[in-house]
Amino acid sequence: ATNFGIDKALQILGIQALNNGTSTGTNQFSSGEIIESYSPVDGQLIGKVKTTSKADYENVMLAATSAFKIWRTTPAPQRGEIVRQFGEKLREKKEALGKLVSYEMGKSYQEGLGEVQEMIDICDFAVGLSRQLHGLTMHSERPGHRMYEQYHPLGVVGIISAFNFPVAVWAWNTALAWVCGDVCVWKPSEKTPLCGVACQNIAAEVFAENNLPEGISCLINGDYKVGEFMTKDTRVPLISATGSTRMGKIVAQEVAGRLGKSLLELGGNNAIIVTPDADIKMTVIGAVFGAVGTAGQRCTSTRRLIIHESVYDNVKNAVVDAYKQLRIGNPLDEKNHVGPLIDKDAVKMYKMALEKVVEEGGKIVVEGGVLSGEGYESGCYVKPAIAEAKPEFKIVQHETFAPVLYLLKYEGDVENAIDIQNNVAQGLSSAIMTNNLRDAERFLSVQGSDCGIANVNIGTSGAEIGGAFGGEKETGGGRESGSDAWKIYMRRQTNTINYTTELPLAQGIKFDL
Ligand code: NAD
Repeated sequence: ATNFGIDKALQILGIQALNNGTSTGTNQFSSGEIIESYSPVDGQLIGKVKTTSKADYENVMLAATSAFKIWRTTPAPQRGEIVRQFGEKLREKKEALGKLVSYEMGKSYQEGLGEVQEMIDICDFAVGLSRQLHGLTMHSERPGHRMYEQYHPLGVVGIISAFNFPVAVWAWNTALAWVCGDVCVWKPSEKTPLCGVACQNIAAEVFAENNLPEGISCLINGDYKVGEFMTKDTRVPLISATGSTRMGKIVAQEVAGRLGKSLLELGGNNAIIVTPDADIKMTVIGAVFGAVGTAGQRCTSTRRLIIHESVYDNVKNAVVDAYKQLRIGNPLDEKNHVGPLIDKDAVKMYKMALEKVVEEGGKIVVEGGVLSGEGYESGCYVKPAIAEAKPEFKIVQHETFAPVLYLLKYEGDVENAIDIQNNVAQGLSSAIMTNNLRDAERFLSVQGSDCGIANVNIGTSGAEIGGAFGGEKETGGGRESGSDAWKIYMRRQTNTINYTTELPLAQGIKFDL
């Protein structure tokens, strides 16, 4: 791997040919089998990672649980200072990490940098939050009593993440969990293990420089079996899992079975509604970036365009024209708009979706296909495709993690479009393109979108760290990142203090001795 400065980036991030995928900070070890990480960009082997065995996992848990005892008594603003230093290190290594994200996952270099920027932003947010972990005070019904609530750290937070945001999702969780006083154990996707090793190296440097104990940030690696070490472990009170709905249903049951908490960030089936008076130019930018950005592998990617019949042909033609300008190729080359899918299995799913939509009666308006030849040797590059379809098609109801956009037509009022948009199992991101105030407000109202994210005159894709991020229904119900998402990383305690010499009982109960 010599192209686009990858070797240099790997060196800056401390990535070796063979890496330990188990780490409790400076202490790196691993005795599991080896995962090889191949780049979807050029099909080259980037590096190998030794995975985590059950015995390794036990060592990690020892380090994490003993680090928690020290970390929870470190004042929250001091924990914020450590997160501030971590954000500074990310600023220093932004280009290198952005490049590795692009090379290992396949998203464009700009999007790789964007992902690291999100990590930096959530660190800044968490630093401020470290002085604002507020609880309420309430008035007691008893005289001479004071009542208030406080938030205490939970313990070990288990983070399981997906391939498509190989670094940012970890940071969304970990930056908040750390200021909340928790320690984290992270299992990244087995498809992007080197991104995990790189992040852990950066975090470990900060903890070592501050003489903090091993185990505040831990890394484990491997497939779902290594994830299960955590989901089954009562020492892990919270599991934050990002990935497919299929995974989420298994993890949710496993964690609920031991009455643990889970924060689930699962699949989406995101739509943009286009009303008769929508700004077509804005619609095209929002829809095309939403559908083809990250080669359609964002949880917030636009999958469905629900267009009013009166503007259907205009919108369709404008989007189809825009697709003609898309350049597909090496995502590290900033000329290109669309990079590869993560692997050949993803290519298979993409091809299957295009076959299915035709079988169900859909009409392809932008032809798909797998690219081959020079620059496409990895076999993971596909053409973004568009199909005209019906909302009830099985394939349209399903999240295909690839650049396939479905055009759906609606008639009459915006209510009809909202019905189509809500009538899927998932509930992550949604948008309306409109200049009609009534339609916009209707879309945001109690009768409107049922998603966790609802935007007006912005696409579905991408979100800011300041808001709570997540979705309803089969998207899992979890919220991460901004607003008050921090509360799930803490346990709430209600405290009542009596400063009199009497002991009155609540509810006025008499109990004379
Ligand atoms: P995936 O479900 O295949 O894997 C996600 C992670 O879960 C991996 O680390 C995997 O090893 C682990 N895992 C799988 N089964 C497990 C089990 N039984 N126990 C414990 N761990 C298990 O998902 P993927 O292909 O990596 O990612 C794509 C999916 O993620 C899409 O559906 C996408 O929409 C979703 N996603 C959602 C969000 C969100 O915030 N809502 C963000 C990113 C991705």
